[in-house]
Amino acid sequence: MKRPLVDMAACTMCMGCVAVCPEVFSENDAGYITVADLDAYPEACVAEAIKYCPEDAIGWEEE
Ligand code: SF4
Repeated sequence: MKRPLVDMAACTMCMGCVAVCPEVFSENDAGYITVADLDAYPEACVAEAIKYCPEDAIGWEEE
């Protein structure tokens, strides 16, 4: 299964991915972007976040 992955070293916490795809991306208590545990990820929404991310910090990983 494919799962979105955020490169925390590149992420600047601009919150863009949270704005465009809140069902997948959120800010956790530690102040980092976290990816929701879902059985299937909405590809269009994640693609939008990938496109939006100014740091190119979002990608897919194969599990
Ligand atoms: S859009 Fe990219 S840089 Fe902005 S919070 Fe999300 S992962 Fe981080």
